[in-house]
Amino acid sequence: MSVVGIDFGTLHSKIGVARNRGIDIIVNEVSNRATPSLVAFGPKQRAIGEPAKTQETSNFRNTIGALKRLVGRTVLDPDFDNEKRFLSATLVDVNGTVGAQVSYLGEQRTFSATQLVAMYLAKLRDTASHELKSAVSDVVIAVPGWYTDVQRRAIQDAAAIAGLNTLRVINDTTAVALSWGITKADLPEPESPRHILFVDVGHSSMSVAVIAFSKGQLVVKSAAYDRHLGGRDIDYALLQHFATEFKTKYKIDVLSNPKATFRLAVGCERLKKILSANSEAPLSVESIMTDIDASSKLTRDAYEQLIAPVLDRIALPLQQALAESGLSLEQIDAVELIGGTTRVPAVRTRIQAALGGKPLFTTLNQDEAVARGATFACAFFSPTFRVREFHVRDIAQYPIKVSWERSELDPDDDTELVVFPRGNPIPSTKVLTFYRKGPFDIEASYAEPQGLPGHINPWVARFSAKSVPSAKSVPADPSSDLTCVKLKTRLNLHGIMSFESAYVEEVEEKVDQTAMDVDGAPPPEEAPKKKRVKKIEVPFASFASSLDSSILEKFKEQEAQMHAADKLVQDTEDRKNALEEYVYDTRGKLEDRYAAYVQSTEKVKLTSLLQEAEDWLYSEEGEDATKSAYVTRLDALKVIGDPIVARWSETEERPRAIAELRST
Ligand code: ATP
Ligand code: MG
Repeated sequence: MSVVGIDFGTLHSKIGVARNRGIDIIVNEVSNRATPSLVAFGPKQRAIGEPAKTQETSNFRNTIGALKRLVGRTVLDPDFDNEKRFLSATLVDVNGTVGAQVSYLGEQRTFSATQLVAMYLAKLRDTASHELKSAVSDVVIAVPGWYTDVQRRAIQDAAAIAGLNTLRVINDTTAVALSWGITKADLPEPESPRHILFVDVGHSSMSVAVIAFSKGQLVVKSAAYDRHLGGRDIDYALLQHFATEFKTKYKIDVLSNPKATFRLAVGCERLKKILSANSEAPLSVESIMTDIDASSKLTRDAYEQLIAPVLDRIALPLQQALAESGLSLEQIDAVELIGGTTRVPAVRTRIQAALGGKPLFTTLNQDEAVARGATFACAFFSPTFRVREFHVRDIAQYPIKVSWERSELDPDDDTELVVFPRGNPIPSTKVLTFYRKGPFDIEASYAEPQGLPGHINPWVARFSAKSVPSAKSVPADPSSDLTCVKLKTRLNLHGIMSFESAYVEEVEEKVDQTAMDVDGAPPPEEAPKKKRVKKIEVPFASFASSLDSSILEKFKEQEAQMHAADKLVQDTEDRKNALEEYVYDTRGKLEDRYAAYVQSTEKVKLTSLLQEAEDWLYSEEGEDATKSAYVTRLDALKVIGDPIVARWSETEERPRAIAELRST
């Protein structure tokens, strides 16, 4: 199995793999350790990751970022008013979930966010499998701890569409904690654990977690979030500032022009990064609008004032996490920072101030700790890759309740029950008991919808018993003919809740055969009887927000087709380049390297064929031909070219190779 961990970031994603030597963060096709979380569509192909970034400025309407913010949401989600500020593609409803409308292969197409994430994960899969030189299927994906059931299921669906099997959807701060803890050889006994507070401020959100570490285990004590606090909020504040400035300075309304807005935003991010290390930074955007070269500058002080509304929100999640952990500040042994935005000095100052001036540490790799942790989590499942035993106990963020219709037989009965309260350990199984006689339904939903991201639908799952066996069950209710049905519910390792099984327990009383066998006589009345509890399955159907298998299969097929089409475009491009290279290379070499090995008639013929190939390459037909057309042309040239190369190689290369061999 493959051991791969993915930090699915708003701006960038990182991939970790386990190899014999340990865990490595791998590089993509342009040797970057982080891959832009972008998917783009063009007239000929999709561009995913790096190529999407390269063409983003010219194709921003068909480029979709912030994928993790979209997946599992609906267009009606109030969060989207906020989200739209950061997106340039058109968002639409796709079968009740959010999707994007893009121009792809010259047509208007819509894709759901789940499909877009699948496209992106497939790209990461290719990067990993290229690096590992083997197929990749098993992965652990890190997501924000504030993700709900529907978002987690959507990630699993997206991974499945990309042909990936998600061994665990792990909370990102938990992954960070794992990469911190697993390397520590000196952790204390469980009675007096070491408490670390982790703070991750990324591109779009801030997460805080308090973790108790002891020998061989970590326990998440509490976690708190601001889902709308990250680097992009700082960029946005800067964007507004400069847009206003340019209105008076240049009489232009940058925000009325999407392309100009986009380019100014890029400039703002750059300026922000410079201000992390300098007290003043310049901003310049060439021909931003109507050929105006816009420029400005900002001091660190002015910058910090501008972004004060963002900075002001830093303290709250820190205070919440601390309060919920039940620990005092003194009991926190260290504070560890990760995430790109903790590089902003003012962000650090605010974190420190909210934590009573405690020193802040960056012992972990700020950008890669999540991916490393996710990879460790994946390695736990691997039979071949050996990692130190380390137990991870995570907790549920949002309470989940089950509810049912009031029974006529018992009008005073409750109609709901919180099964997994906030802070409930993950994974966890609970068996619920219901007294019923016919088919019945149970709904699972989040108990406190107001706490969910952007009013996400609180509904989680439905259980529908088709029939209930008649009442021979135990403990039977003697006063009625109701049957006691046990319903097993589970909050699994991914933080996803499901109805696992339903059954009725029936007691069978059997005469003890061994007692009877002694003399073959019939057993006396008081002969020992054996009690055996038999489980009778209750037939049921359950529903949740995961995609139906038929839709999943359809999406898988579509993804495979698009992937194959992209590969064909890429291969065609490669073959075209190969032909072009052969033309120039051979033409040059005919004049020097091969000059002594080519007959004049041969040379005339090949030269003219090379010229013909070149003319064709730059003709309308050759510009955009099929893969086989390029291959055929190249093969035809090689029929004449190869014997010349062979002659040269026989005479020049072989003696040299032999001489080299002899000298060694
Ligand atoms: P999230 O965790 O919110 O999903 P992410 O994981 O993609 O997002 P990170 O890679 O942790 O985000 O951080 C990216 C953010 O950090 C961007 O907003 C980027 O501009 C910002 N950033 C990176 N380096 C610096 C720096 N030197 N100074 C200021 N900001 C920086
Ligand atoms: Mg992150």
